[in-house]
Amino acid sequence: MIDLHLHSTASDGSLTPTELVNLAAGRGVQLLALTDHDCVDGLAEARVAAQAAGIRFINGVELSVTWEHKTLHVVGLNIDPVNAELAAGLARLSAARKTRAAEIGRRLAARGIRGAYAGARQLAGSDNLTRAHFAQWLFEQGHAKTSRDTFRRFLARGKPGFVPMIWASLEESIGWIHAAGGRAVLAHPLRYDMTRSWLMKALAAFKQAGGEGIEVICGHGNRDECATAAHYAMRFGFAASVGSDFHNPSAPWNQPGIKDSLPENLTPVWRFF
Ligand code: AMP
Ligand code: MN
Ligand code: MN
Ligand code: MN
Repeated sequence: MIDLHLHSTASDGSLTPTELVNLAAGRGVQLLALTDHDCVDGLAEARVAAQAAGIRFINGVELSVTWEHKTLHVVGLNIDPVNAELAAGLARLSAARKTRAAEIGRRLAARGIRGAYAGARQLAGSDNLTRAHFAQWLFEQGHAKTSRDTFRRFLARGKPGFVPMIWASLEESIGWIHAAGGRAVLAHPLRYDMTRSWLMKALAAFKQAGGEGIEVICGHGNRDECATAAHYAMRFGFAASVGSDFHNPSAPWNQPGIKDSLPENLTPVWRFF
């Protein structure tokens, strides 16, 4: 089993890199990439844990990208995490995350919800704050019935805690990944809430900018979505990746390791490693 998209406590996952690797290895994953949001801090620990568990480990990262005023996620696989160009890019995104988190806190406070920034920061245990940490805090404080509901009410575009962001450009993100010796994969292509024609434009732009692959099998995707993504991979000449986008053991439909295998006409992205 292969899984090239998972999160740890280095971003918005709930397991430490070691716990995550052990869970994945126990479920039969043999090749695993840790891909935290705009952060490579968990990779060293995950590598040690993978070695101990006897599975193969690939350094990864999930970069936040702004393209045509939309957010895309570009996974970098087989990167050198200490590459200077990538490190400078990550430092920029991480600074943007910090500023944005403080602003989310201010906007929520203006709506009478105080302490969100400090609360989310404590849940994150670091400055690498995502909206998922705010969602968890808002949920725990009783501001919504489910963590998902907190997005709808507070954190989605147009809601009180939403802060418009300009992340990396497509060209920058792919450039950093390539500078670090990695391959660029568009994450969960069917999860961007785009019309088909926008998605076609996004895939073309990603290809044009040097992107090598797209995720064809995603943890939360069904068979139809997999077939659609496989079709796009063929059509645009992308290699295919497989990733659960695991965050949390409490979501049983989205656990490390995916049993489905790729359609045989596609080139698996791990051929490159
Ligand atoms: P950020 O990159 O800080 O904007 O945070 C995005 C993260 O929040 C994603 O990686 C998901 O883990 C989570 N997320 C985004 N949208 C939703 C949603 N509608 N419901 C639940 N979690 C979400
Ligand atoms: Mn996430
Ligand atoms: Mn993502
Ligand atoms: Mn992800």
